[in-house]
Amino acid sequence: MQFLIGIYQTVFTPEDDVEWKEKLIDPPSPDELKAALEPIAPAFNLDGSGPRFMQEVGIDGGTDWSIDSLLIGMPEETKISDNTDWFVKRGTVQGLCPNCAAMGLFTLQTNAPAGGRGHMTSLRGGGPMTCIILGPTLWRTIWANVIDQDHRDDDESPATASDSRRFPWMGDLRSSEAGISTNPENAHQDQAFWGMPRRILLDLDGALPGTCDLCGAKTDHRITRFRAKPYGVKYAGWVHPLSPYYRKDKNSLELLPLHPQPDGITYQNWLGTIVNDTAKGTKISKNVERFPSRTPPGKIRQIYAGHGGRPRLWLFGYDMDNKKPRCYYQGTMPIIATREEWAASFEDLAAGMVRSAGEAANNVRWCVKVSLFDKPSDVKGDLSVITARFYQATEEAFFQNLEDAASALSNGDDTFGIRKRWLETLNHTGKQLFDEYSQIDFIEAIDAQRAVKARRLLTTPFSKANKAIRGHLGIPDEDKA
Ligand SMILES: [Zn+2]
Repeated sequence: MQFLIGIYQTVFTPEDDVEWKEKLIDPPSPDELKAALEPIAPAFNLDGSGPRFMQEVGIDGGTDWSIDSLLIGMPEETKISDNTDWFVKRGTVQGLCPNCAAMGLFTLQTNAPAGGRGHMTSLRGGGPMTCIILGPTLWRTIWANVIDQDHRDDDESPATASDSRRFPWMGDLRSSEAGISTNPENAHQDQAFWGMPRRILLDLDGALPGTCDLCGAKTDHRITRFRAKPYGVKYAGWVHPLSPYYRKDKNSLELLPLHPQPDGITYQNWLGTIVNDTAKGTKISKNVERFPSRTPPGKIRQIYAGHGGRPRLWLFGYDMDNKKPRCYYQGTMPIIATREEWAASFEDLAAGMVRSAGEAANNVRWCVKVSLFDKPSDVKGDLSVITARFYQATEEAFFQNLEDAASALSNGDDTFGIRKRWLETLNHTGKQLFDEYSQIDFIEAIDAQRAVKARRLLTTPFSKANKAIRGHLGIPDEDKA
């Protein structure tokens, strides 16, 4: 999907919102799309005597690798020598057809993790979070994520295949060997989709007929090796239109790309990907930022509303631990927005709801520890399953309350009732999960005093955690909810 969005962003950028709407309602014909793609087609050759897609043809020196090293998540040499490739086995991918090799290459250049000295990360660091607005058809999904020229600040010259400012493999690569970084000023904005942090050349000359180990297709060119060299393009200062960013602290100027975390993708990610977290200075992705004003309530909004009546955002990415992928996450979330004049209050309220839930989930986990162990702070066991279940159990109520809040704010109504209802949901879910995990119902089997004390800690309105939860929701302390 990122490849397709990148293609149409590169050759088919609409002038403004008016043209964007026209093409949304009346999609271009296949012939029109074909004519738009023709000028850049030579930049997408995987093989041949000229430049090759996302590869460095004249690569000089470097190291030969077996083809599975192209795939993120295949066991690394250390795992093989330590015999720890338990889940993803060595030797399962020994040859790829050109289609799979091209996708592997694009995926690696787009997500490149850190890989030791000279191994550059992708333009958004290792395994970035990507946000894509979903539409009812392929075209309308692509189009929702293409930014119009009025909201970009780069030259409007049409893309050509020889344009190495867009396609870095079409000219001399700006290698980082001499310490050179590549900023947006050194390239075209479209390079965000065509970054080349890794210098790679697939061994197509040595490819023999065979079967692809990924898709099972028979191929005349089963690629088994590639050559690679460190010091590909080192990107600095880029903001990719499909990714959210954050700052180390609110006043810092530097924007850092957001990456999925071990908790996965939950509604905790709603803040900072669909609305800005003003307290943290986040910057939601450009496609999401443009969406509400492009799709005012009415016909256009309806196109994206889908069955549940809400447009949805698809979020995905790797959780990388340096060069190791720990996990790949994806999920979808409703896009709920409110009119400009209420946007700030809505963002505050949403932030309070997200933070109160985070606090409540931690509190349950802590109280379960208190109930089970004499020295809870020394317990190292992983109780993150409680957090995950807490978010799962409260997710539907979260989005329902947000939607109610959006309409209350636009009607000029108070949101106190909604905030109190959310507090009740948090308290109720907390008690349920506590009872289950502390096994308080099997009281004879555990330390009764400890469990009762822990339950009191969970429910007392005077605890630090419960005060903080009410604080996030703007519910005064004297209100004994
Ligand atoms: Zn294949």
